[in-house]
Amino acid sequence: MTAKYSYNPRDARFLLKEWLPLADILNYERYQDLSLDDIDGLLEQMNRMVANVIAPTNDDGEINHPRLVNGRAVGPPSWKEVYQYLQQQGWGTANFDRNADGTMPEVVYAALAEMMCAASPAFIYYPALTTGAFKVIQTYASPCLQQKFLPGMMDGRFQGCMCITEPSAGTDVGDGLTRALPTDEPGIYKIKGSKIFISAGDGDHAENFIYLTLARISGAKAGTKGLSLFIIPRFWINDDGSTEPNDVETTGIENKFGIRGCPTVSLAFGDNDRCRGYLVGNPPDEQGNGEGMVQMFQMMNGKRLECGLTSAGVAANEYWNAATYCRERVQGRPLTNPRADRVPIIQHEDVKRMLMLNKATTEVIRSLVMKAYFYQDISENDPDLARRKWAFARLECLFPICKAYTSDEAWILICESIQTYGGYGFTEDYPAARAVRDTKINSLYEGTNYIQSMDLITRKWPLHKGQAFAGLLQDIDNFIAAHKQACPEFGREFAKLGKALRSYQELQGITLAYFQQGKIDLVASFARRILTVTGQLLGAHFLLEQAVIAQSHLRETEKDHYDYNYYLGKTLSARFYINQILPNVWNTTDLVKEGDPTILNCPEEIFAY
Ligand SMILES: Cc1cc2nc3c(=O)[nH]c(=O)nc-3n(C[C@H](O)[C@H](O)[C@H](O)COP(=O)(O)OP(=O)(O)OC[C@H]3O[C@@H](n4cnc5c(N)ncnc54)[C@H](O)[C@@H]3O)c2cc1C
Repeated sequence: MTAKYSYNPRDARFLLKEWLPLADILNYERYQDLSLDDIDGLLEQMNRMVANVIAPTNDDGEINHPRLVNGRAVGPPSWKEVYQYLQQQGWGTANFDRNADGTMPEVVYAALAEMMCAASPAFIYYPALTTGAFKVIQTYASPCLQQKFLPGMMDGRFQGCMCITEPSAGTDVGDGLTRALPTDEPGIYKIKGSKIFISAGDGDHAENFIYLTLARISGAKAGTKGLSLFIIPRFWINDDGSTEPNDVETTGIENKFGIRGCPTVSLAFGDNDRCRGYLVGNPPDEQGNGEGMVQMFQMMNGKRLECGLTSAGVAANEYWNAATYCRERVQGRPLTNPRADRVPIIQHEDVKRMLMLNKATTEVIRSLVMKAYFYQDISENDPDLARRKWAFARLECLFPICKAYTSDEAWILICESIQTYGGYGFTEDYPAARAVRDTKINSLYEGTNYIQSMDLITRKWPLHKGQAFAGLLQDIDNFIAAHKQACPEFGREFAKLGKALRSYQELQGITLAYFQQGKIDLVASFARRILTVTGQLLGAHFLLEQAVIAQSHLRETEKDHYDYNYYLGKTLSARFYINQILPNVWNTTDLVKEGDPTILNCPEEIFAY
């Protein structure tokens, strides 16, 4: 039952200081106070804080998971203090206040947040949801509403929440039944409806809960287009600062198999006709189009990147835990020398395979997510509007990959970590069992991974007449052209990356042809696999870029240098991933080209047997 925090920030340091051109971001006026030299200190400080403050409370979330007491959720006892500490010490939401000095870029914060995710993937919901709601209010709400809600969100008195899902509206967000009726007070609406699965939607760790809620104003269009966004405080805040209940009830609490410490609740708004909410932005236009989805998408996209961040943190932590176990567990003799003494299992070929798969793929996941945050920083801060738009288009292309590729892989990787422990991995005595339960949610919520796959194919591939996504592919071509000759050590890997790129472009062409032939159902049946190979292609590119940098260090580093094995590991990650994982790109292209319709031809009746 004991969680174990084993995070090693070495790779994050490399990505920030050597791989990404972080200096580009630090040049922005807003970040003038920060330099590359500060990165080591920030990572160390956060690692220490996470190890001492957050990690020790992970077990509390598992043992004392939330309960309903007199209609309110009661959370893990130690989490309130940790939430307040984070928010008040500036490690949480306050970092995202656009009006404050001394904040750090998203990409730097992401490297720090990955450690929090690794230490307690369920706790991270508290600060992350508050931050997501905070950003939406700061971007879209009036100064008056910002003044009312933002200070309490920054200092930990308030908890932010995202209220989209309803019993009959999961993936079909546009079918939500929550309604909003105008009142005599401008901008204030009466709200009636119910929401389910609301993360951090109640608890005893905050004074107030700020529900960002999608609802339909009477007369607005059906579907997602007609939705508007409301700020609904659980306790209404009067102008003199006093509060009163706002007719929001917690009607249930989910009994989850993972992230158990974070209360996930169902809520009823306005059962007594006394629930009020503030409209964010404008009422629906004359055609009945509301602004809610666009506004909420800011939070949803943020959560999608966080799915990737959590996947990286949890999978990496369990990989390091498994590697430690494998160094200690002695079992079996070397296959190539059966007369030798028994050896630690880390020396066995298949155990090394599992660790290598974990190491290389978590590095891919981390790289994808960090690259996305890097583009986000450019898109929000660059003085050149055209470059901001360019970066935002890149970011948009990466959202579904960072959400879905990462979370699908993390689940598989932690299953492999369990496998490395043998039977012990199947017990709750080792941390991998809880980690695999904790990580599963990332493929399910925030738009299931199938929804992300179709988003990639139908929206992100054609974005800006296809130029945005084509730019990501062009980067691969440019990289190969620029480095292939100079790095003969990776001749095989460059050749395979080039082959995968051409194959992926062929895959796009085949998919487009299916669309033109009206075979959208066939595309849907392959969509998840197309998303996977997209992650693999981009990931292989990023790992080879990193391997080229690492190789330049190896040329100048003796074997006994303290960083030798780190850089050697980076080159081996790239070699393993490109030679043994990347071939899935052309295998999948062949599969899609063949267009086997078996799935489409399955009558549902066969699934009874
Ligand atoms: C722990 C937890 C926390 C959550 N936190 C929040 C939160 O804070 N706020 C919030 O609003 N929601 C939250 N959710 C809800 C979550 O976002 C939804 O569960 C998710 O969007 C999926 O909806 P659903 O469960 O209704 O599944 P369904 O929509 O019923 O989907 C079931 C399956 O069918 C597939 N499917 C559905 N429609 C289609 C289609 N058209 N084509 C092909 N396949 C389809 C899906 O991909 C999925 O595999 C949370 C859920 C959980 C479990």
